[in-house]
Amino acid sequence: MYNTPRGLRGLQNLGNTCFLNSCVQCLAHAPPFSDYFLSEPAYPRRRKKTILAPAMEAVVKAIHDANPSVASARRVAAHNPRGLLRAMDDVPPLDLFTDRDQHDSQEFLRMLLENLNDELNVVEKPPPYREEKDDFTEPENVKADRLWAQYVARCDSVMTRTFAGQLRSSVECHKCGTCSTSYDPFWDLSLPLRASKKGSVGGGGGGAGPIGVIDCLRAFTEDETLEGSDTRTCPKCKVKGSATKRLRVKRWPRVLVIHLKRFTWGKSGRPGKKMDAAVDVPYDLSLGDFLADDALEGGRGLHPPKYKLFAVTNHMGSLGGGHYTASCEVGGGKWFTFNDENCSGEDGPPRVSKHAYVLFYALQ
Ligand SMILES: [Zn+2]
Repeated sequence: MYNTPRGLRGLQNLGNTCFLNSCVQCLAHAPPFSDYFLSEPAYPRRRKKTILAPAMEAVVKAIHDANPSVASARRVAAHNPRGLLRAMDDVPPLDLFTDRDQHDSQEFLRMLLENLNDELNVVEKPPPYREEKDDFTEPENVKADRLWAQYVARCDSVMTRTFAGQLRSSVECHKCGTCSTSYDPFWDLSLPLRASKKGSVGGGGGGAGPIGVIDCLRAFTEDETLEGSDTRTCPKCKVKGSATKRLRVKRWPRVLVIHLKRFTWGKSGRPGKKMDAAVDVPYDLSLGDFLADDALEGGRGLHPPKYKLFAVTNHMGSLGGGHYTASCEVGGGKWFTFNDENCSGEDGPPRVSKHAYVLFYALQ
């Protein structure tokens, strides 16, 4: 994080664009992301035109260039992010977001990062995609590293280096006990807003108190029994039967994005409802309990990764009509709330919140 407060400037609302403003403020206060755009980046020369990255650069610079004192931040004229909105019109499927309708800030974040990654990927000729065939002889660490190297060989940008981690998914066959694993890159973790079915550890989630983000992480990584229509054919013994599925973090990103699944969807994709549960958002977060057994091997460090919260996207209101704001650490331990054109100082990071929706954590 920055040593002194900076980036104290609001963004004008161009008609239901608070989903964009809140997301952009969180990114503009993520130094690995913002420093890239503040440092006069030379964009990779590509056949495709670079549209979105310069538009993002202009917004990040406008947010940081104003540079008022904490006390005078309120009086700084908000920046008009029209250029970024226009750029999104030129980059499908981001043009989905320019219809002046309400949109999901997390969905927007994911597409924005993916599209920026497309433009900023320094790999000119990605090697062809190879289909995985597991012979169960390759050590897990070797397999994870090989698949990560394959991913980075196709996709290498400031976005992947900042946000991408690797998730291990294992499925253990109940018949022969063989564990088949897959390793997939992730750019955020989408957590269910509930405690694990075995009950929460360390309070919360029991109904009365707030649900802890740790509880949500436990629910996300708890063993899931695959049976009935979820069964699959075991690649080893070729029997279709029950199995246990488990998710673990294998490689952790510099910036960990946690999405709390507040919005549920009904059958056939119909809008469901919003969960207003209060969430205990820890300032310090360790991924220790959620790592793959061998995640600390192979020169990746002896200690479980520790993260500090630096930004939160908040959602107030219902599924049909709501509003987004951002709470960000702006430097020197100071926190600000960015509410479209307005920004104002806060006492500190959000602790227990009914509105916290997307959490941004920086690796220490
Ligand atoms: Zn089997």
